[in-house]
Amino acid sequence: MQARYDIVIIGAGAAGLMAATIAAEKQQTILLVEKMDQAGRKLRITGKGRCNLTNTSPIKEFISHIGSDGRFMRNAFSMFFNNELMQFFEQKGVALNIERGSRVFPQSGKALDIFLALINGIERNKNISILKNTSVTELITSPAGIAGVALSNGTTVAANKVILATGGKSYPLTGSTGEGYTLAKNVGHTIVDPIPSLVPLVCTEKIPDELIGFTLKNVSLTISDSNDKKICNFFGEMTFTPDGIGGPIVLSASRMVSRRLQNGEQLRATLDLKPALDHDVLDKKLIRELNENGTRILKDALRLWLPAEMIPLALQTMTIEHYKRLNQVSATDRKKILRMLKALPFTIVGTRSFDEAIVTQGGVSLKEVNPKTMESKLVKNLYITGELLDLDADTGGYNLQIAFSTGYAAGKAVNE
Ligand SMILES: Cc1cc2nc3c(=O)[nH]c(=O)nc-3n(C[C@H](O)[C@H](O)[C@H](O)COP(=O)(O)OP(=O)(O)OC[C@H]3O[C@@H](n4cnc5c(N)ncnc54)[C@H](O)[C@@H]3O)c2cc1C
Repeated sequence: MQARYDIVIIGAGAAGLMAATIAAEKQQTILLVEKMDQAGRKLRITGKGRCNLTNTSPIKEFISHIGSDGRFMRNAFSMFFNNELMQFFEQKGVALNIERGSRVFPQSGKALDIFLALINGIERNKNISILKNTSVTELITSPAGIAGVALSNGTTVAANKVILATGGKSYPLTGSTGEGYTLAKNVGHTIVDPIPSLVPLVCTEKIPDELIGFTLKNVSLTISDSNDKKICNFFGEMTFTPDGIGGPIVLSASRMVSRRLQNGEQLRATLDLKPALDHDVLDKKLIRELNENGTRILKDALRLWLPAEMIPLALQTMTIEHYKRLNQVSATDRKKILRMLKALPFTIVGTRSFDEAIVTQGGVSLKEVNPKTMESKLVKNLYITGELLDLDADTGGYNLQIAFSTGYAAGKAVNE
């Protein structure tokens, strides 16, 4: 081996940067290897460039937003949770704001400030060397545990301890291309098949051109299986995409259905455009408005109930003659209008790809990792952190807190 460090950290994302910061508290030599030309590429684009770094909800509620087994995070959170994370950044001079939904952002509105707070400390620390534009291609083990890493530049580095922080497979242009799964698998770890999550859904219905990019607010989306059994329901904002639906409530729903879709299941989504009005109230309102506007033609009168952009999709769904006058609308037609408003159907057949997924579901099996230290149960002195683990969470700051807390736990553990 050509060089030796106490600790090698693979990946300079949220988890790796936190692990390096904490590990550097003791005077150990650290090599932080990053395959991209810059550290923290993904961190800098989080939260639409504003970085929703955590969520202030209490631990029980927080954990309920995490799959596959959020309880895995209990130990790491007991050491370093949302309050500690907020203090950590505030002590580094980053003022924070708590926004709607208990989401925490830097007051400046710049994700860059979160990144700089981490990287500045790392770059100033003479015990940490950063090697950019270089990938770790292999974990080198001995019967005693981890021994070092092999690099894409053909060299090897010996290390007493190694922290894997290579992220998942989503947004691969940021460097998270899933190499960590292969590294972990090659030393014996089980990988729960990684799939895109927090991702737009693809449907078979044609989305009319005028609707693409259009956002609906205060709507309710329910997804059911082929037996009509409800899987999930979300209320809020959604957007139409060229081949389906996206936006906040769809991304949230995607976490619950991505695995089923990946397994080839076809699912039914119904959109309630009028969630504030129950079926009977809306029906009475429809009867009244159909009477009051009897001479108007349906195609135009739909504006009474819908934004203009939605009309082509409504007409496509309802199969009622477009030029019918409202006083000719039959009871059957009215039921169709009602169904369109309360349960607009979509046939969901898949998700968009990792290129558009905010997180990866699946990863290194939690059964093989010590939840207190993030140490591998299979390879001594190897630690596994962040999105690489079989953990993914809702939008709202949960995913970054997982990366920071697991990075922290590993950073502490390598100092023991
Ligand atoms: C557009 C977008 C917005 C998001 N917004 C939010 C948000 O506001 N709040 C939130 O909580 N979550 C958000 N997330 C999710 C969150 O960013 C991730 O869950 C988190 O960054 C994961 O951190 P990580 O350190 O595990 O991995 P990453 O941040 O992906 O970092 C992994 C690093 O490892 C490097 N690497 C990979 N393989 C190798 C190798 N073989 N050798 C060397 N280096 C390697 C990569 O280049 C990368 O720099 C967002 C994600 C996306 C894509």
